[in-house]
Amino acid sequence: MFRTCSPDDKLHEACGVFGVFLDDPRRDAAPLVYYGLLALQHRGQESAGIAAVKDRNIDLRKGMGLAAEVFTPETVAQLKGPAAVGHVRYSTAGSSSIENAQPFVSRFKLGSIAVAHNGTLTNADVVRELLEDAGIGFTASSDSEVIVNLIAKNYRKGLEKALTDTIKFIKGSYALVMLSDEVLVGARDPNGIRPLCLGKLPSVRGAVESGAESGNAVESGGGWILASESCAIDAVGGEFVRDVEPGEVVIISGAEVFSFSFSEKTRRAVCSFEYVYFARPDSVIDGTDVYGSRLRAGGILARESAAAADLVIGVPDSGIPAAIGYGKAAGIPFGMGIVKSKYVARTFISPDQDRRERAVSVKHNVIKSEVQGKRVVLIDDSIVRGTTSRRLVSILKAAGAREVHIRVCSPPVRCPCYFGIDTPHRKDLISNGASISELCVSLGADSLAFISVEGLLESLGATAEQSYCLGCFTGEYPIPVSGNGE
Ligand code: SF4
Repeated sequence: MFRTCSPDDKLHEACGVFGVFLDDPRRDAAPLVYYGLLALQHRGQESAGIAAVKDRNIDLRKGMGLAAEVFTPETVAQLKGPAAVGHVRYSTAGSSSIENAQPFVSRFKLGSIAVAHNGTLTNADVVRELLEDAGIGFTASSDSEVIVNLIAKNYRKGLEKALTDTIKFIKGSYALVMLSDEVLVGARDPNGIRPLCLGKLPSVRGAVESGAESGNAVESGGGWILASESCAIDAVGGEFVRDVEPGEVVIISGAEVFSFSFSEKTRRAVCSFEYVYFARPDSVIDGTDVYGSRLRAGGILARESAAAADLVIGVPDSGIPAAIGYGKAAGIPFGMGIVKSKYVARTFISPDQDRRERAVSVKHNVIKSEVQGKRVVLIDDSIVRGTTSRRLVSILKAAGAREVHIRVCSPPVRCPCYFGIDTPHRKDLISNGASISELCVSLGADSLAFISVEGLLESLGATAEQSYCLGCFTGEYPIPVSGNGE
């Protein structure tokens, strides 16, 4: 299941999913899905795809790269029909190739279905073998294709039964958005590890694609949205309605929406790393706003691990809110000490060592006048391999910082993720097997501290009902896993 992690010094989100069903059959959903994918681009930059349905025919366009590289206005306009699903991918299970780009579409005798999946199935190998034994062929190595083939196999029982049987059979983490000839479907795994939410598009007044003469304004119905994060609902002018519950299936057909629960009540275990790093700060996941949780984490970190300092700075972008929270709680001024180039991120995915090292050098730079002669607290969201932290300490000191105290808004990452997040091998996790003082020396910092597990939970507002996956910090996973991630 594990592959070599991206050389970037962060864990990586696996995917973002987005689906739209418009009430008005004369309008096209694909342009909205495209904008939704742009808002979810931070969740995956390797490939993008959109599938749309019109007159019972599912049309698909997908390719390697960012959504804006894969699609042009012309290719988006070719995707007709009032319902569409889209996907942005960062590969965890299965290689980074066009075959594994999503959505996956299966066309069979009784109909067709498109599936976009965020997460990782822990029993994908077993299901794949079973399907292959039944004579079903695969074109890709991604575990997401297992889902689409399983639904296709069960489809003769009717869509609802096929979905329920499929979802009951698969194990692991999944936020699914699926499109059949007639309905848009969303489903979230029984622990709700990966996020999924429901939104509503308001009615619009204007010219529709067809059925109205040019310039003839007509009232057009709104529609429904399913998205990995609420920021993507905002991006297309929709209103957030609610999160899809763990173990819930939502079925949308025109203006109609109904839902049912397919699992026994299980412990909610939303990925805590969504709040630490993956999700956009303007998203709200399961009632907790991501920006607020990062601010609180900074405040808690200041309470748990005070440092005598003159300036607090954050590692852009996700360390910034926590740095503001830390500075406020500690009474230390917050400043912009580090600038990040936003245009080199994808170079990090390059397997070429030379290009990778050059990218590391150009990604961050220091504002010398801000840090010179000062004792600096450097706030980061997480430390995975330690390469970025080591370099940041080095360039801060070279720029004249008197002391550098690293404070980290997540506990040490010591264990792999089995639920759709790209994790380095255990041996490459800098916190695995090392004491905090050894780590501090290795990073060249004057002091180092991580937020406690209890502190992280406090920042998330955890309660008995609202609990979180902490597997990569504690090694305790919400569902049984096999393998040791070596
Ligand atoms: S193991 Fe870590 S990254 Fe994976 S789902 Fe749990 S908290 Fe998230």
